[in-house]
Amino acid sequence: MRASAQVSAYLKDDDLPVFWCSGCGNGIILNSIMRAFNAMQLPPNEIVVVTGIGCWGKADDYLLTNSLHGTHGRALAFATGVKAANPDLTVLALMGDGDCATIGGNHFLHAARRNIDVTAVVSNNFNYGMTGGQYSATTPADSYTSTSVYGNPEGEFDLCEVGVAARAGFVARSTVYHVTLLQNLLQKAISHEGFSMLEVHSSCPVYFGRYNQMNDPVQMMKWWESRAVPQKRYEQLSEDERAEKVPVGVLHEEPRPDFSSRYRKIQEVAQRRARDSK
Ligand code: SF4
Repeated sequence: MRASAQVSAYLKDDDLPVFWCSGCGNGIILNSIMRAFNAMQLPPNEIVVVTGIGCWGKADDYLLTNSLHGTHGRALAFATGVKAANPDLTVLALMGDGDCATIGGNHFLHAARRNIDVTAVVSNNFNYGMTGGQYSATTPADSYTSTSVYGNPEGEFDLCEVGVAARAGFVARSTVYHVTLLQNLLQKAISHEGFSMLEVHSSCPVYFGRYNQMNDPVQMMKWWESRAVPQKRYEQLSEDERAEKVPVGVLHEEPRPDFSSRYRKIQEVAQRRARDSK
């Protein structure tokens, strides 16, 4: 199998085919990430991709960039360490909804608050795919999973709203159906100085789809298409019209000094004091 010119500098094609099921959205996100790297002319050896556990956590297996495969829910903790140690690197943390929003929720909140210059790319398929389709913190209330066969008794939260509340400087959403938007948002998120997050609603036809009458990947794509509404148009909808709709695009942008630039200033003060005290 030969990679296209847009992705060949980043794709470890010896390891193909990918681990993911047919119709999974993860391949679309990975392809968009590599296309974004290529459009931004980022050298692979200056990129670090950090992953956690889960189906999306396998993404680093297929990349020629530097990579670090961490423990469940801790991708942002590892990514924070990498960026703090070498602020010149481009650092991405790839996580699923189980990894980022559920097991890793605490790390997510504090990476956003700290404003570390890392881009979180969250493949949100509304369940824990790799371990058998259990419900997560983003599984819509009343929907069906392997651990909620009569309907999810818990309420979900909107991960982008949580990111804004935690002070993420750049918050955006796309779906795997909207690939042009997805690549554009990836480029914006990576370019943003400070913590950026891109939530991608992604197909898991094998578990979430099958439990919710969408076991055909095409049905899942039609679902993404029918739900997504550009942010500006979404704001004009009434509360009733918003039911079953999801805003996509850039949802929030707020420039503020990132962790590394603030930390550099503190280092300068500390070094000056140390010199003055001699
Ligand atoms: Fe994708 Fe779901 Fe299969 Fe995991 S279980 S690879 S998320 S389709």
